[in-house]
Amino acid sequence: MSEAPRMKYLAAYPQGLVDQVRQLMAQQRLADVLVQRYPDAHEVRTDGALYDYVTTLKADFMRKAAPLSRVLYDNKLHVVRHALGTYTAISRVQGGKLKAKREIRIASVFRDMPPAFLRMIVVHELAHLKEREHDKAFYQLCTYMEPAYHQLEFDLRVYLCHLDAGGQPLWSAGPETTAG
Ligand SMILES: [Zn+2]
Repeated sequence: MSEAPRMKYLAAYPQGLVDQVRQLMAQQRLADVLVQRYPDAHEVRTDGALYDYVTTLKADFMRKAAPLSRVLYDNKLHVVRHALGTYTAISRVQGGKLKAKREIRIASVFRDMPPAFLRMIVVHELAHLKEREHDKAFYQLCTYMEPAYHQLEFDLRVYLCHLDAGGQPLWSAGPETTAG
């Protein structure tokens, strides 16, 4: 490897931490570390299963937030910076009534991930139901729903660096099921 990987997903983290990841990568040990920490893939394979998963978590922590119209895996979502998932709220007046449409899209790369990473991204998008910006209140809400949130986001970003550097997917479950 002549050129150091770009590690763009870790841009916000301290240099020392990024160097550790880079070193593990250079020693071909990063994949083993990740698989040891997160041995299994989740089984939330379809948009229907994802909808159930998200609404269950919402019922546990964000019961008062308005209901979601749609939840789906989106293979057009490019996983960069703040676009691990998206939350959209569109309100429009229809026949004199205010109709709200709230949609959560999760990048398709999350279909083949450990349960903890899926939970992390869903917690992130649910927190946007209440907090728009990535500010202190937002991350407080994230850690309320998932105490290990910060560690999980870091580990997820490490995995994205692994993929970005041409590494093989570590939790690929084979052909995608399209039902549901
Ligand atoms: Zn966000």
